[in-house]
Amino acid sequence: MSGSARCGLLIISDRCHRKEVADESGPALAELLRSTKHFQNVVEASQCVPDDQHVIREVLIHWADVKRLDFVITSGGTGFGVRDVTPEATSAIIDRTAHGMMSALYQQSYPHSILSRGVCGIRKRTLIVNFPGSPKACRECFAIIEPKISHIMELLKNDTQAIAKAHHETVATQPPSAAVGADDSRRGPAFRHRKSPFPIIPVPDAQQMMLKECDIGGQEMVSLRDALGRIVAEQITAKDPLPPFRASTKDGYAVLSADGDGERKVVGACHAGGMEDVQLVSGCCMRITTGAPVPAGADAVVQVEDTELVQHDDKSGEELVIRILKRPQSSQDIRPVGSDIAAGSVVADIGSRIDPACLGVLATCGIVYVPVYAKPLVGLLSTGDELVMPETSPLPIGKIRDSNKTVLLSTLAKHGFSAMDFGIASDKEDILIDAMRRALSVVDVLVLTGGVSMGEKDLVKSILTTVFGGTIHFGRVFMKPGLPTTFATVNVGEKKKLVFGLPGNPVSAAVTCNLFVLPALRKMSGYVNPQYTVVRAEVVKDVKLDPRPEFHRAVIEWTVAGKNWPVVHSTGNQISSRLLSVSGADVLMCLPAKTDDKTVLYAGDFTDTILL
Ligand code: AMP
Ligand code: MG
Repeated sequence: MSGSARCGLLIISDRCHRKEVADESGPALAELLRSTKHFQNVVEASQCVPDDQHVIREVLIHWADVKRLDFVITSGGTGFGVRDVTPEATSAIIDRTAHGMMSALYQQSYPHSILSRGVCGIRKRTLIVNFPGSPKACRECFAIIEPKISHIMELLKNDTQAIAKAHHETVATQPPSAAVGADDSRRGPAFRHRKSPFPIIPVPDAQQMMLKECDIGGQEMVSLRDALGRIVAEQITAKDPLPPFRASTKDGYAVLSADGDGERKVVGACHAGGMEDVQLVSGCCMRITTGAPVPAGADAVVQVEDTELVQHDDKSGEELVIRILKRPQSSQDIRPVGSDIAAGSVVADIGSRIDPACLGVLATCGIVYVPVYAKPLVGLLSTGDELVMPETSPLPIGKIRDSNKTVLLSTLAKHGFSAMDFGIASDKEDILIDAMRRALSVVDVLVLTGGVSMGEKDLVKSILTTVFGGTIHFGRVFMKPGLPTTFATVNVGEKKKLVFGLPGNPVSAAVTCNLFVLPALRKMSGYVNPQYTVVRAEVVKDVKLDPRPEFHRAVIEWTVAGKNWPVVHSTGNQISSRLLSVSGADVLMCLPAKTDDKTVLYAGDFTDTILL
């Protein structure tokens, strides 16, 4: 196989918060891959996670489906210990099992293999193999499968790729820092606050505080195929000019303009894709097609419509002499070298968002890997004792199906972000802490829904401060819906993680995801302007104003007879549990808070609307 495969190394160990584990096993495995002669791998992802089935599964899915790595080696968690769950996590996500590879590993590393339950298989186009935890065992296992790996990669890919730059990402997990803070709601309902201790802050202030905490995560090289919508991280210049030669813009004849109009002897043809080694002389011309190189000596192209045939060879059908009807101008219908893109010119600047045309320009310039800002790893966790998975039927008494997860996953997806699903956590403190810890060990941004209001089971805020030692930047926002929206930062090891605690009410979660989470993710992904787009529109019907500024779900109508501006219709009942008010909405009207003077926004008034 020529070129490289893109690999991921997943080290699985409960001790992965200890730096030496990642420091030993990661480089040992990376070295192993690089040592193979005909298989120069690029390690694109390297991570150390605890022996946690859910976390392992989510990372493997992310690497296979989102990063689309070719080859993933996991190391660790394959044995008989109670914590060893790597094979189960892997089996749960592979589409096809690689039985032959597994039996080769078992046979050839017998009797050690008796102790290993590792599996091998394929998810989509990614080969995933479970190796034992020790670097020595990994080396032995790799030696067994190595002779066949290249061929497997070829079969999985159908094509070869070269990766310009290896991208390492190691997320170390750390136990949360010691308890700090004075919130006692975890001790029981009697100790909860009866008035929220968090000031209510205006939306713009909250957004500003939140964006201040969003840092760009790093850079990575992505192929053209994966670059759409990404933000350019390094200035990209053209190596070659476009067109690389003087090119005709017409189908016609290459001529010397000094010959003027009149008859020309046809001495040959220039076609796109070729390059004739001729020198055109006075009195002669060559047929030429659009995009073909103009022959040396010629300084103009005359389109075929401005000529007529004078003499031809009946047998061969060849033109012998033609007549130019219009006197040509010098340079007419010729694109000079570099007239579209000059060599060395900037074709994509830092901070620009890659659109289809930009991809075309990069392709034209032969740039197939693009330096872009990395996107943050996002995790979603629904909280609430009452929640069950959407597929649960019939619904047990007192339960409701989790809809927030689906809404948030798809809202993020619509805007180009993927997220890992950390399931549903009940409101029991230890379960919630455990789920948050698991998620925080992996992701850059954790989005929780529920548990941030004033109920006795709303423990998220106090857990964030007292268990994780986090800083709550805001815990209430002056808006409807979304009053209890919470934003915190938590340090896990050296790394700052962002936590959004969105209200559980489905409408509130959807609205606040658009107002806070998406701008944060865009800023972390390098967007110069991470905010949403605002359009002014005319309100069609009177809307009553609320004491809080309201983000009112609505439908925008872009073209209305007799108006040069859009109009906006409410989706009806705006109660925050009614997800139907969001369904079909394509904008949020930004309604001001009610005042003594203004209690209604009247039909015909204008309002800002946020495009969803
Ligand atoms: P909370 O913010 O936890 O007080 O929840 C507020 C309301 O939202 C309650 O009626 C919850 O049942 C509901 N809720 C919370 N989480 C979800 C969810 N993931 N999907 C649907 N409804 C939810
Ligand atoms: Mg709740």
